Amino acid sequence: MIYADNAATTKMSAAAVKTMISLAEEAWGNPSSLYSHGQQAKEVLEKARADIAAVIGAEPREIYFTSGGSEADNQAIISAAAEGRKKGKMHIVSSAFEHHAVLHTLEKLRKEGFEITLLDVHTNGLIIPAEAEKAIREDTCLVTVMYANNEIGTIQPIKELGEICRKRNVTFHVDAVQAVGNIPVNVVSDNIDMLSASAHKFHGPKGTGFLYAKKGIRLTNLIEGGAQERGKRAGTENVPSIAAMAEALREENAKMGKKAAYLTKIRDKIINGLSEIPHSALNGDLQKRLPGNVNFCFEGIEGESLLLLLDDRGICASSGSACTSGSLDPSHVLLAIGRVHDVAHGSLRLSIGEDITDGDADYIIKSVKEVVEYLRGFSPIWRDLINGKKEFIL
Ligand SMILES: *Cc1c(COP(=O)(O)O)cnc(C)c1O
Repeated sequence: MIYADNAATTKMSAAAVKTMISLAEEAWGNPSSLYSHGQQAKEVLEKARADIAAVIGAEPREIYFTSGGSEADNQAIISAAAEGRKKGKMHIVSSAFEHHAVLHTLEKLRKEGFEITLLDVHTNGLIIPAEAEKAIREDTCLVTVMYANNEIGTIQPIKELGEICRKRNVTFHVDAVQAVGNIPVNVVSDNIDMLSASAHKFHGPKGTGFLYAKKGIRLTNLIEGGAQERGKRAGTENVPSIAAMAEALREENAKMGKKAAYLTKIRDKIINGLSEIPHSALNGDLQKRLPGNVNFCFEGIEGESLLLLLDDRGICASSGSACTSGSLDPSHVLLAIGRVHDVAHGSLRLSIGEDITDGDADYIIKSVKEVVEYLRGFSPIWRDLINGKKEFIL
């Protein structure tokens, strides 16, 4: 099997699994208990917090453990909105192709009276900072933009956006779920006030993540109860998973440069190979993209059929985010970069990990070429395109 769906989830690293199991056996005490067995768990928890903080340039007390990226996104946005409401600032700036954890939270706030401006991500999948600056108003309480897109892998000019927010005194939240562990992220040099991350996207366990909130940022509780996480997130902490997350992040961070160089080489080989398919196009900027992301549209086919046939050949890929697959709506990300419905339906995302070999890349290229040709062979849309009844877009 070739696993090329690391943007959906990653396999836990051996060290993370080992940490998780050994701590489940040894440090199962409640970190809030005062006897030494509980305090041992507390020490493990606080070491994980310090290690994670160090990787992103934060202070340990600025890290809040959550159940994952979705919860961190929700809490960040709801917190900034609550502060905005107090000051009569009810305007939020975001982008059209954020993750649904962000977009659906914004939609809820819109129904509660907030005004939302979604920035254009243009055909290359990138925000233009000057346009963000223009969108910020006197009553803007939050700018929330993702570091790297989960479907097309484009990396936003976060540092520049952060500078603008700082200058205009607006809180800046970044969904960095796809970035953390893959590319350098530093909350200080990137001017980030709040950041979301998720362990299962960087070879840690599922159901575990964290929210970074800069000192002085007021958080709103999503879950009421005990005084865990400085009183901002109730519930007994999942110590083994949190420690495994810290272990995975340390590992990924230590090998980041090497891993990125290798993945970029394989990624570009796959992009070059798939570009030879007629009437195809790469989605998202070629340069400013995650090292492991390949995303293409092929005219005249349906992404779902492509995936099933690739699965038969032992290749795990995706046609969009897991949230949209299974529904007939084309990806909101591809629509946001201007792909029309028909074209957006024929999409393929390959998100490779460092276990991929050069031979795997050859096999992927060959398989996709064959499967696309096969599917076009009995596609009515393709027949219309070939017969000139419809015009090619790509
Ligand atoms: C996966 C993902 C999320 C959600 O994270 P979970 O831990 O699965 O809740 C949020 N944002 C982005 C960009 C993602 O890729």
